[in-house]
Amino acid sequence: MKVAIIGAGLAGSEAAWYLANKGIKVNLYEMRPKKFTPAHKTSNFAELVCSNSLGSLNLDTASGLLKKEMELLNSLVIKAAKKSFVPAGQALAVDRNKFSKLITETLENNSNIKVIREEIKSIDELDEDIILVATGPLTSDTFSENLKNILGDKYLYFYDAISPIVYADSIDFSKGFWGSRYNKGGKDYFNIPLTEEEYERFYEALINAKQVPLKDFEANYYEACLPIEEIARRGKQSLLFGPLKPVGLIDPRTGKQPYAVVQLRKENKEGSLFNLVGFQTKLTYPEQKRVFRLIPGLENAEFARLGQIHRNTFINSPKLLNKDLSLLKKENIFFAGQITGVEGYCESAASGIYAAINIFRKLQGKEPIIFPKETMIGALIHYITDKERKNFQPMGANFGILPPLDKKVKDKRKRKILYTERALNILKEKVLANI
Ligand SMILES: Cc1cc2nc3c(=O)[nH]c(=O)nc-3n(C[C@H](O)[C@H](O)[C@H](O)COP(=O)(O)OP(=O)(O)OC[C@H]3O[C@@H](n4cnc5c(N)ncnc54)[C@H](O)[C@@H]3O)c2cc1C
Repeated sequence: MKVAIIGAGLAGSEAAWYLANKGIKVNLYEMRPKKFTPAHKTSNFAELVCSNSLGSLNLDTASGLLKKEMELLNSLVIKAAKKSFVPAGQALAVDRNKFSKLITETLENNSNIKVIREEIKSIDELDEDIILVATGPLTSDTFSENLKNILGDKYLYFYDAISPIVYADSIDFSKGFWGSRYNKGGKDYFNIPLTEEEYERFYEALINAKQVPLKDFEANYYEACLPIEEIARRGKQSLLFGPLKPVGLIDPRTGKQPYAVVQLRKENKEGSLFNLVGFQTKLTYPEQKRVFRLIPGLENAEFARLGQIHRNTFINSPKLLNKDLSLLKKENIFFAGQITGVEGYCESAASGIYAAINIFRKLQGKEPIIFPKETMIGALIHYITDKERKNFQPMGANFGILPPLDKKVKDKRKRKILYTERALNILKEKVLANI
């Protein structure tokens, strides 16, 4: 039995390592250095294309919990990161060259892995028993076309447009009202009215805030889904006809239509997370926090995810994938990494481990192992494969995607530690004991 892995990035490298250690023969296809993506600069596997930080190690952070889960699953990325660590406070930052060289050498020297430096243009080229697609956010154009044909073009996206997500318990709900535009759709939205004065203050801050510069290859992606600050720059009133439009929304406390309205939509069934509708943005993270906290009710907002727009190839996983990350309509084809709609280095790598575990089980004729939602990896996989999910956009690790604790805990740090303890206990009991 042989497995083909397309792409030796964060996800593909982890998957190859897991399967090879289980004695499975892997053909690992990587197009670099013959062909580069617009962001990669070397021929090394698991190249970090931007920041050299893998995020916090603290166990009272979602990123720390994710890394701990990966470590318990024998992650190659965490091993290499610890060996190439550079001091960066609480974060796991690495010497990027040392990090990706270590991963490359480990995989190239593994006798179960055959590295093939070729671009895969079509899945039909491959005859291995199982195929794992891990070609990342910058999947080559020809292969993207092939995926489009297999999946349907409305299920493959080339950029993301991510609105910020706020933790519900940091919103002051006394500052708005529930209801949908023209009373259609029940109480799905929390609406925050702004007076003319409040709107102007927000508008001025928004158009003058610092933005993340566009990369050359990103420039022509934005007309289809404009950042909120770009809409604002087109005229002082333009937001009132876009994301802050008040029409059809009557504030029951005044009986009037407000000057402007910010709408927040529940991001999960539990209502622990709220999405700022239409607030996709290229503002820097600190500027987003500063500007969006000017909105009444969001003065103390804690963000589970900040807004982004960037070039990102990803599939509509909720519509296309089974819970084990195989394709619904072709169960010998699996997906992992950023292309599935997880967001971030570690999230991508973790999904590679998860897919590999289930590929191995499939090869053994065993049922898939679906990680419980209480674990960070399980929660991420649930998020991207949840069949009820609408408006799918990529998601990174955060505590808001975990099911709530049995009891209410007011102290934030204690609550986060409890989430972590619960996740690690369940991972040990329900996953590690069974793989
Ligand atoms: C410009 C940019 C900056 C980013 N910055 C950060 C950041 O700072 N922090 C963060 O956490 N996340 C960041 N991300 C998001 C994401 O976490 C990383 O892109 C991460 O590398 C994704 O891992 P992956 O394994 O899915 O894809 P990748 O690591 O990109 O790996 C995919 C691999 O597939 C190869 N490949 C593509 N097509 C083919 C083909 N047809 N045949 C063979 N090989 C192919 C590529 O060469 C590449 O090696 C960034 C993304 C981009 C695009």
